[in-house]
Amino acid sequence: MKIIVCIKQVPSTNQVKLDPETKTIIRDGRQSVINPFDTYAIEEAVRLKEKLGGKVTALSMGIPATQRILREAMSQGVDEALLLSDRAFAGADTLATAYTLALGARHIGDFDLIVCGRMATDGDTAQIGPELAEDLGVPHVTNVSEILEASDTELLCRKVTDYGTQVVRMKLPGVITVAKDINMPRMASIRGVRESLEAPFTMLGAADTGADPARIGLKGSPTQVVRTFTPEKTVECQFLQGNEKQAAGALCRLLKEEHLTGEEA
Ligand SMILES: Cc1cc2nc3c(=O)[nH]c(=O)nc-3n(C[C@H](O)[C@H](O)[C@H](O)COP(=O)(O)OP(=O)(O)OC[C@H]3O[C@@H](n4cnc5c(N)ncnc54)[C@H](O)[C@@H]3O)c2cc1C
Repeated sequence: MKIIVCIKQVPSTNQVKLDPETKTIIRDGRQSVINPFDTYAIEEAVRLKEKLGGKVTALSMGIPATQRILREAMSQGVDEALLLSDRAFAGADTLATAYTLALGARHIGDFDLIVCGRMATDGDTAQIGPELAEDLGVPHVTNVSEILEASDTELLCRKVTDYGTQVVRMKLPGVITVAKDINMPRMASIRGVRESLEAPFTMLGAADTGADPARIGLKGSPTQVVRTFTPEKTVECQFLQGNEKQAAGALCRLLKEEHLTGEEA
């Protein structure tokens, strides 16, 4: 089975800085890690390879420093990696990101399955997996918590929904995004770390992928951030003193007062 696993580099800190001009996240590679959800995608891709044979290629769009997390994935069983890196890709919204990753997938060539994390911890949209599938014209299943059956031609997956779970059969090639309860990611072995340093790694720019300049980066993004701001704190938190009964009584009085004030207004 030929598997592609999409990995995003995300800030490991919540002190994310924004460029005041472009309103985009400043991605300088410092304090960056593999998107936590993507560690489950890597593990599932490697498990499928171990079961069915084949190859796993890690794919990322990001700054050159993203190479570090791709090497980390290779130390955990991924065979090779492709990094799409170019100033022209910067500032992409999800549509432009998915288009760019689709170019990367096409460059890798015939694939049976693409595995993504459920969502990225910085962008948080969970849109890339489905958009990537649409771009490539293949089916997708999101939020997969278990792969019940797998062959080179189809997958039987359990997916988590808002109301419970669903069992879905999907013909391959296709895309899945995985939930974090799908597996327990393995630690890299010393041998894996050593082998990852020698593993095949390719970096391509926009021209190498034949990207349409009108569909990549900030210019190719139909959605752009107009303004960013920290929400003003408008409510004060009040702690009620005393035991449970006293606190409940105080809460009732406060709610009554609030209700009466509301009625007067
Ligand atoms: C309206 C809007 C406007 C935006 N504008 C900008 C902007 O102007 N500038 C800017 O810098 N950002 C912008 N972003 C953020 C940017 O679109 C996202 O960082 C990026 O498109 C990925 O989306 P996400 O982080 O929500 O990923 P999700 O969809 O939550 O990620 C799901 C999975 O997709 C895969 N994936 C996601 N991104 C990558 C990647 N780069 N490489 C490999 N795999 C990946 C991973 O497997 C991940 O687990 C914008 C987002 C939105 C919604």
